[in-house]
Amino acid sequence: MADASERSSNLDAPVFGARAGRDWRPSRPEWLDAAVRVRIFIVLLTTIAAVGYFGIVRQLPVVPAPIMIAWPIAAIAFYLGEVNVVVIHFLRERHSFSLSELPGVVGLFLLTPSDYVLAYLIGAGLALLMERQQPTIKRLYNLAQFGVCAVVAQTVFHAIADPRHLAAVGSHPEARDWLAAFASSGATAILGALLVAAVISLSGGAPQFKKLPEMIRFSGMVAMANTSLALLTVMVVWVDPLSAILLAVPTAIVFLAYRAYIGEREKHERLELLYESSRLLHYAPELDSAIVALLDHTRKMFRAERAELLLFPDPIGDGAIRSSAGGASGDETMVPVAIPVHDALRTRIKTERAAFQASPTRSWTTNPAAVKEAMVAPLVGERGVIGALTIINRLGEGSRFESDDLRLLETVANQAAVALENGQLEQSLHELSRLKEQLRHQAYHDSLTGLGNRSLFVEEVERRLAAPRDVATPPTVVFLDLDDFKIVNDTLGHAEGDRLLVGVAERIGGQLRPGDLLARFGGDEFAILPGAGSTVEDAMALTERVIASLQLPFPVAGTDVLVGCSAGISAARGTDTVDELLRDADVAMYRAKSDGKRRVEVFDPLMHRSIVERHALTSDLGRSISRGDLSVAYQPIVALGTGRIVGVEALVRWRHPTRGDIDPTEFIHLAEENGTIIALGRAVLRTATQQVVEWHRHPGLKGLGLSVNLSPLQLQHPNFIDEVRADIRDSGIDPRDLTFEMTETAMFRDTQATIATLETIRDLGVRIAMDDFGTGYSSLAYLRRFPVDILKIARELIGGPTETDDPEAWAFARAIVALGRSLGLPIVAEGIETEDQLRMLRRLGCGLGQGYLFGRPAPAGEIERLILAGTTVEVSA
Ligand code: C2E
Ligand code: CA
Ligand code: CA
Repeated sequence: MADASERSSNLDAPVFGARAGRDWRPSRPEWLDAAVRVRIFIVLLTTIAAVGYFGIVRQLPVVPAPIMIAWPIAAIAFYLGEVNVVVIHFLRERHSFSLSELPGVVGLFLLTPSDYVLAYLIGAGLALLMERQQPTIKRLYNLAQFGVCAVVAQTVFHAIADPRHLAAVGSHPEARDWLAAFASSGATAILGALLVAAVISLSGGAPQFKKLPEMIRFSGMVAMANTSLALLTVMVVWVDPLSAILLAVPTAIVFLAYRAYIGEREKHERLELLYESSRLLHYAPELDSAIVALLDHTRKMFRAERAELLLFPDPIGDGAIRSSAGGASGDETMVPVAIPVHDALRTRIKTERAAFQASPTRSWTTNPAAVKEAMVAPLVGERGVIGALTIINRLGEGSRFESDDLRLLETVANQAAVALENGQLEQSLHELSRLKEQLRHQAYHDSLTGLGNRSLFVEEVERRLAAPRDVATPPTVVFLDLDDFKIVNDTLGHAEGDRLLVGVAERIGGQLRPGDLLARFGGDEFAILPGAGSTVEDAMALTERVIASLQLPFPVAGTDVLVGCSAGISAARGTDTVDELLRDADVAMYRAKSDGKRRVEVFDPLMHRSIVERHALTSDLGRSISRGDLSVAYQPIVALGTGRIVGVEALVRWRHPTRGDIDPTEFIHLAEENGTIIALGRAVLRTATQQVVEWHRHPGLKGLGLSVNLSPLQLQHPNFIDEVRADIRDSGIDPRDLTFEMTETAMFRDTQATIATLETIRDLGVRIAMDDFGTGYSSLAYLRRFPVDILKIARELIGGPTETDDPEAWAFARAIVALGRSLGLPIVAEGIETEDQLRMLRRLGCGLGQGYLFGRPAPAGEIERLILAGTTVEVSA
């Protein structure tokens, strides 16, 4: 009997069973939701079944058979009939039919009509429940259909048969009863096919009625055969129940013979397909179309979802070319991909040289996640393994690749390998060389910027080093590294960081002359090989242009981002190798960075020593911080009008165990580079606040202000605000006595986050001073946006000690003081060393200042004495 699963001849997709999950999805907008329509249909069928059962079946007479079967036994038979589906696979089609007519027809004679319906519903229903993973709605549908079919089977049978005559002694089923049985199973087969087609259409699947005649023809045939067999069984049972056993033998033999026949037939078809595949490869005009045809063909041959062919044009390279057919990922034709030489699968096909099952094939399929099972066969040609053929996911429920399939695949793969190696390969050599070129391009270029990569650069430099050259123009490399790019990347996100890199690459590229080679080494590192004939001076000029070209901000993510760049240049000496040349340029670049960034240095052998020292210094610093070896010096900040000390700036001091005092300018950037600045800054803040609170206890030192320098890295640290709060609480300092100093370039790095953090700090009552104002990108727009309370004029911007009368020298200071006035911000002038300078600043209206004139940075004790002594710098106006 047909049910809505893989019963009857269901040809591929129309099946309402195996892939019903897909078929059920409504594909077009309709007046009623597909699911609702199907539910209505189920209710309708159930109603028909119920009415038929109570209205007709219950009234039907019982067939007076010599023996009656108990319904539970019949239910088991129905269950077995449903479960034992005979399945024939051929191509992608899955012909399957059940043996349920056998118990069905026997039951017509040997069960009461009510028992028949009951046994059928329970047996087939159980099969539904146990055997298949189906959505509930489909189970309900199948059950309803079983009910209708059982009722129809009984009704049709009793409409034709006349079971009363069977009550007579010696009577047995006759032609009319046989006809009734045939009509009954034929009617249910047709009804089943119709209902399946109807529900698929209702659920939004493609209309199935066109395929109906074919479905009915096949299931009708099966029904006929099964019915005949069943009738034979009934007859035998009627006459002599025991002799039924005799029937079992021929039935089993027929069944086995049939299976054998199907197997032979399948083998035959496969041979034909194999022939077809070699024909495809040998006669197709183009390699790529031949491969696609082969893949499509192979995929069908194995009833698989997808087939992929990998070719390794280079036996020792990572490059491979993939073509594929079928499946959700779509077809690909000759797509270059990278598959490492020591990829596990690649190694395996090379060593085993035989097909194997690999599930899943993670490394090289288009969509590894979709691979449930796969077979892989090497393409073994005369040159060795030239590729692999992969077959992915068997179609059809519960079906798997078997050893037969593996052997067949191996044969196909061997044929393909030979075909590909002969003629075809040569014929399409230009195609392969084009692909090789594409692979080469991928191997030598940076995918983000399209620039050459390190490999390309190195090869080019090697070529230049090997070529004869003029002593005046040695091959020279420029190594470029963006300043603080990591911060940009971390705060703006990688996508914006990438966009910024592309912009930077364009700017740098704009400065090149014909013949210069620009490459990206990865991250924020670039390198330039100036064209042949360039001198070191030419390289310098070029690099300076590059650095200057980056001066303008980049618009990124709604803000302007400044990217500096430091560079190192090294020129080849006699026997230099590429590695040495690049290493030296890198060393020079580091020197440029530590000398203040945004600059270029030419390599000098002495630099190596300083690099070594730098490393030593960095590790010494880490140790000193953890041991608490750093100390804090304080420099007075003075009210210029009265000369009174109103505050101090905390400045870190490091007395190195062997090298003595080291300048903060020398080690702060080291601490920033390796992150120890966080611990350093924390220690300075803690020491300084405690010191100032202690001073505040003294009547003469009440209200003394404290300025502490902040590194941008501290600001970005997630715990920063908590730590500041903790410090204020622990030390007991009044936050209004505390000022944080930050340089403007540091502030502008990551405007959004910086502004937010600075505002939180300000809400605590702490003030913010912009340090070294005027040396960076001082812009009014920025000043407005940033929460700034104080401006500090950089030491470099106040006129020289004796140039008081030089208007040029004071132009900056004058402008900044005016700016501070109009914004209402107090100004602190730094680096006041002479009375002339003090006089001038007073005249300009600058309120506060610090410098050697008032006091050098000194240990707490000295500062304390200085303040308490109350000495002020007296200057005549
Ligand atoms: P800065 O914040 O601009 O600090 C002022 C620098 O100018 C100090 O140098 C100070 O000694 C120096 N100075 C003060 N008055 C005069 C003067 O009249 N003439 C001259 N020529 N120089 C004067 P120092 O102590 O070497 O610090 C250098 C820089 O190191 C500081 O510049 C600051 O940016 C950084 N720094 C110092 N301590 C810390 C710290 O605890 N944390 C952080 N993040 N940075 C610090
Ligand atoms: Ca400062
Ligand atoms: Ca400063």
